[in-house]
Amino acid sequence: VDCTPFSEFSFIDFIKSQAKNGWIKDSLGIGDDCAIIPYTDTLDLLVSTDAFVQDVHFLLDKASALDIGFKAAAVNLSDIAAMGGDPLALFLTLSFPKNTEKKWLDEFIKGILSFNVPLMGGDTTASKEGIFISLTVLGTIKKGGSKLRRSGKAGDIICTTATLGNSGLGFEHLKENISSPFIVHHLRPTPHLKEGKFLAQFTETHAMMDLSDGLAIDLFHICQESKVSAQIDLDNLPIEQGLKGKKHPFSYALESGEDYCLLATIDKQAFNEINIQFEKEFNHPLYQVGHLIEGSGTVEYFLNGKKHPVQYRGFDHFSY
Ligand code: ADP
Ligand code: MG
Repeated sequence: VDCTPFSEFSFIDFIKSQAKNGWIKDSLGIGDDCAIIPYTDTLDLLVSTDAFVQDVHFLLDKASALDIGFKAAAVNLSDIAAMGGDPLALFLTLSFPKNTEKKWLDEFIKGILSFNVPLMGGDTTASKEGIFISLTVLGTIKKGGSKLRRSGKAGDIICTTATLGNSGLGFEHLKENISSPFIVHHLRPTPHLKEGKFLAQFTETHAMMDLSDGLAIDLFHICQESKVSAQIDLDNLPIEQGLKGKKHPFSYALESGEDYCLLATIDKQAFNEINIQFEKEFNHPLYQVGHLIEGSGTVEYFLNGKKHPVQYRGFDHFSY
């Protein structure tokens, strides 16, 4: 397979075609937020790994060591939340230049431990240039209880567990030295572990994933995997009043990514009751953004009930 010009996702498809997916009985390999491996009689094991590279994922002059550790852990845990699971343990691989200060490393580890998930191993090496972090998380979930990207059904209501675009605007403010309440969303995202567990208890919650690359591309993955299409009502996008920056608010909400809340598709009949319970638990409702329809894996946008011509794309590591 010719992978050039590179796109992150065509490369993952290439790996997937080469890897012996599913060679562990009743397991799930490449393609969802976590791999799923049978664990005990009653539990599945969840595994996910993420890399964080200096100047790609973080800038040393813009984020503290504590911020960087915190975010690495949050992003990793968010993939456990996306399945509806409980975190079990973290493994950290770290490469850094010889002149890295001990204080920086101390603070970084403090950040990694922010969520009280035990750090149970890893590896440490020197690097010639820059800091490289790889974090792996293990989690558990009731056997067969994971919520997958491929389980969306036509008719489902599509919803998110938080407002969108705050991290994207925060990143812009951070780069431009504008102090604003959006920056904390970029530096310290919250993994929606409680929300994930809450939604996963309902059989009527069909597909679920975390929003890391932006609603446009993340929902596209659900549509492709579930073999359905999606209609998004732009009027209904949950966007904070103050979300005003260089780009259109829709662009922050759909394309900037790094919101790390959850995207779920829920059976239409059950949605209202689940939403009432969700609001009692979390003091705000689920945000309805559209619905799934029969189709071949596309995402369409509507504004004031009319089809909107603009196509949105999310973050891809090799197209920027
Ligand atoms: P997420 O954003 O939820 O962490 P990604 O978009 O990074 O997920 O990855 C999508 C899927 O592709 C995941 O199942 C992940 O494990 C898999 N994947 C990504 N990169 C690789 C790789 N280099 N080798 C094997 N699997 C990969
Ligand atoms: Mg994910």
